[in-house]
This record gives sequence, C-alpha cells and structure tokens, in this order.
Amino acid sequence: MSRPDLLTITGARIAYSPDRAAVDGVDLSLKCGQVTALLGPSGSGKSTLLRAIAGLEALNAGDVKFGEEVWSGDGVHKAPETRRCGVVFQDYALFPHLSALDNVAFGLRSLSRADRRKRAQAQLDGVELGDRAKAFPHELSGGEQQRVALARALATNPDVMLLDEPFSGLDRRLRSALRDTTASALKASGAATLIVTHDADEALSLADTIALMTEGRIIQVGAPDALYLKPNSIAAARLLGDAEVFSATVSGHSVEIALGLIDTPALDQDTNVDVIIRPEGIGVSADPSSGTAAVVTERRLAGGHARLSCQLDTGRVVQARVNLTERASVGQQVWLTLDPHFVSVVASE
Ligand code: ADP
Repeated sequence: MSRPDLLTITGARIAYSPDRAAVDGVDLSLKCGQVTALLGPSGSGKSTLLRAIAGLEALNAGDVKFGEEVWSGDGVHKAPETRRCGVVFQDYALFPHLSALDNVAFGLRSLSRADRRKRAQAQLDGVELGDRAKAFPHELSGGEQQRVALARALATNPDVMLLDEPFSGLDRRLRSALRDTTASALKASGAATLIVTHDADEALSLADTIALMTEGRIIQVGAPDALYLKPNSIAAARLLGDAEVFSATVSGHSVEIALGLIDTPALDQDTNVDVIIRPEGIGVSADPSSGTAAVVTERRLAGGHARLSCQLDTGRVVQARVNLTERASVGQQVWLTLDPHFVSVVASE
C-alpha cells in the first residue's frame, strides 16, 4: 500500500465548557508536500486544533485521519508519540541541558549512536545551522533556537508537521529570512504541514493554502492570492489585509456604488451585497475622462507603496495603494478607477 498523502479533519469539535466550543465543526485537509497556514485572531481556536491533530487534545466530535488510519475519533485516540507528527511549539521547548546536536538527535533512539549523530548533523545543515551543533540553547539566538526546534521536529521524518506561531518571538527582519529557510526545509521534508499564525503576511508568503479561522470555525480555505483577491466575507477580507467595503443591492446584473458599476452575473436581483475592494484595486488618475471624482486628503508611505486617502463627492474617504511614482498630492483633484480583479461582491450576512 502506498503512503497516504492526506491528513483529513472532519467535523472536529472541542469544547472546554458546555456553552462554547473552542473548535466548532472544523473540516480541513492537509496535503503532503504542502504548507497550509491556519490564520485567525488570538482565541479563535487555532492552537487547540493543532493540538488535536498532534493528539494532545481529545475531540468531542468528528475525526482526524491520516489516509484511512484513524488518529482521533470513533472511540480511537492514538497516543501523540505514535502519530508521526513533528511539532514546533511557540517557545521551541528545547532541552536546555543538551547541545543543538543532541536536541535534534533526541528523537532518533531507534538508530545507532553514529547514525543518530550523522542524521542530526544533516538536519542542522538543512536549516543552515551545521556550524552551531555544539552550542547549548542558551548560547543560541531566538532565530537559531527556532531552527533547532524545526530540525528536531523534522529529524524523525514525520508525515505531518505542526508549527504553532513559529516566528512570533522574533524581530521583523529575522522573521522574513527565517520564513524562507523554514519553507524550503518543510517543502524538502514532504510532510503535510500546518502553520498556525495570526500574521497575514506570514500566511501569504509561506503557505500553499490558507485556512481562515474565526470563533472556532473555518470561514474560507484557498490559495493565498485567490483568498486575498476574492474573500467570501468582510471577516475573511479583514483577516488578510485592508479593504474598503460598500453596501449595495443587485439591480439587473450589476451593483452601483460610489466608485462605479460592478458586474454581478451570479447574483439574483435585489440581493443585498457587500462590495469588498482591496486598496490596490483603486487606481488614481489625473485624467478626468474616466472614473469617479475625488480629492486627495492624505498621502503616506507604507511598505514601498503610497497610500492615498481620497475623498469622494459623497464625503466618503477611501484608501488607494499606488506606486510611489504616482505623485498626486494632498488637495489635488483626481479620478478613481476600479480594477475588478481586486473587487469581491458577496451576499450580505
Ligand atoms: P488561538 O490559538 O487561536 O489563539 P486557542 O486555541 O488557544 O486560540 O483558544 C481558543 C479558545 O479556547 C480560547 O477562548 C481559549 O481561552 C480557550 N482554551 C484554550 N485552551 C483551553 C484550556 N486548556 N482550557 C480552557 N479553555 C481553553
């Protein structure tokens, strides 16, 4: 029988108290060789779900399966150490009295001493820490400790890798460098990976798939760019970045908002909708021949772009994210256009 390539979670429910579930009917699949980011605000149930996959939390309903093998559910609860999961906890949980090499070698007891050391050294090389093998955790920086924890989790060649906020204790510059090392080590492992995070940039840059979680439920799953461009609700949109939202009602096969007319072929007449627009989808032009008149009220730089606040005739102010070369200045009359790729029209909740 070939090795399964999917971990599936079906109808998972975990309730610490009778009136409220921390995880409330979650369905999610993790594919081997792929990274799934579980993105949501603090308290939304992400860590609880991760712990349930690892076997550190029991399910009240539903199941967790690797291929056809039941890990949790149907009266089964496989012990954590039998699940072939590698886990990287938020605080890394390294053994303080063991060197980096011995930390990584710790889980490899089935191998001979020489093979353990060889394997552990290879894992440290894989996270670019080969020359720090003899260092103890207190001699390592936060980023190095994170990589030792990653190497230790990968050393047993797990089928499933679970990482709980692995970059949260690190400064911003270090984070983006570590993301690349982590992503390539995870890809090379072939494991089905789940990374829990509350950082949208981290999820967008690391993951093949993002699952958005609020209040114990998964509200949308998809490829990072698809989710960014076409969120299925205001809550999903806000989890991944800034958005302008307009309320409107479908008339014929379109809706009209202050920024123009938007086609809505798939929605019924009179449906109340939210029109969700990413700031990159609002174009700013000095050409009055097209677009909606507005006046620039503020110009700020943000992450290599300019963020322009533009006030429409209705009084509403919208934010446009434009290239730095767009020189529109405060007080200037401009015309705003919409790029439909950055617009999502969803039925109001
Ligand atoms: P996240 O990882 O998204 O921040 P958690 O999974 O840690 O969220 O928590 C989800 C909810 O479950 C929160 O309301 C939290 O207070 C609660 N919770 C988590 N662990 C426990 C526990 N061991 N006992 C009781 N409540 C818990």
